[in-house]
Amino acid sequence: MDPRSLLYIILGILSFDFILEQFFDYLNLKHQKTDLPEELKDIYSEEEFKKAQDYYKANANFSFLSSTLSFLLIIIVILTGTFGWLDKQLSFKFQNPTTLALVFFGILFFVSDIINIPFSLYKTFVIEEKFGFNKTTIKTYVLDKLKGYLIGGVLGGLLIWLFIFMVTSIGPGFWLYFWIILSVVMLIINMFYTSIFVPLFNKLTPLEAGDLRNSIEEYSKTNNFSLTNIFVIDGSKRSSKANAFFSGIGPKKKVVLYDTLINNHSKEELVAVLAHEIGHFKKKHIITGLILGIIQTGFMLFLLSYFIFNKNLSEALGADHLAIHINLIAFGILYTPISHITGLLMNIISRKNEYEADRFAAVTYSSIALQEALKKLSSKNLSNLTPHPAYVFMHYSHPPLLYRLRALKQIQ
Ligand SMILES: [Zn+2]
Repeated sequence: MDPRSLLYIILGILSFDFILEQFFDYLNLKHQKTDLPEELKDIYSEEEFKKAQDYYKANANFSFLSSTLSFLLIIIVILTGTFGWLDKQLSFKFQNPTTLALVFFGILFFVSDIINIPFSLYKTFVIEEKFGFNKTTIKTYVLDKLKGYLIGGVLGGLLIWLFIFMVTSIGPGFWLYFWIILSVVMLIINMFYTSIFVPLFNKLTPLEAGDLRNSIEEYSKTNNFSLTNIFVIDGSKRSSKANAFFSGIGPKKKVVLYDTLINNHSKEELVAVLAHEIGHFKKKHIITGLILGIIQTGFMLFLLSYFIFNKNLSEALGADHLAIHINLIAFGILYTPISHITGLLMNIISRKNEYEADRFAAVTYSSIALQEALKKLSSKNLSNLTPHPAYVFMHYSHPPLLYRLRALKQIQ
């Protein structure tokens, strides 16, 4: 296909994607007008419901503005051939394709990050602040940024270096070798996420001995689940929103509870949340999620191997020769429709898994305690209680509260 047709396809995908997103956001925003469902009246007072709706609207307006701007920006960058221009400027200085690619992506990363900073500041220090969620100080914000650069630079740089090296030295067969490497990296990150990455940003402390720990251990024991690694994370350092997560596989597995969760929930509710997390583990959701992620990555790399050496693709984005790093960007855009489909399938699986984990917690522990925990979490986080069903289908990895409560009520 000639460069011009490829350019039109790229612009078409970007535009279609943007319009589709706006359409679903619009549906969801309009759906906000619905009244609070009867079953949820005990969670929010009318006043709090109004606050949650205002929070939703503030975020929706913000995301409309930022996504419109980034859409316009990428269209302008592509139409003006900026990617090709940057490549040309850099190729005067850097002859080695690997160095060239590293500098190229480094510059793109920093420019897009700098453009993004005002938006992220506004989100944290204006929107989240206004609704009482923000606990991040400027110091934490700056440190987070620096640590993010460091990790992104080391990990991203290493992967880009390896990618360009393999593509140029192996040829189209690179995808298989790079897939193996990426899979190993994914496994390592998954295994050591809580021991290496989380401590860079947060303090993890083992859950102190006492009533809560005893209850959790007792529950784990009756359900044949060896759980010794229970940690508390200082989530309150950044936000008053609460959460819990499970990470790692095999003996590395750890359960992490936010301090904000512990402070606001009863012992029974906390054990119920934990039982839900253990449910994910027992039902093998974590390992299947990882395997599905690895399969998707392989599929994507396999497709990439058909595009990465296409000179016309580089030319579509303004280069006058084959540039692997520019093709990587072009492929990223061409792949969006497929990644939407795989994302949609992953969301369907994830929602099914959430019901399964809820059911596990209800059967092995308490349906009522989990319902109470979910209600409290939802109101504390001002979550959207009335999302549009089509929006849920597209974007939600967890079923909305109302659906989960209905399912749980059938078990109690
Ligand atoms: Zn879950």
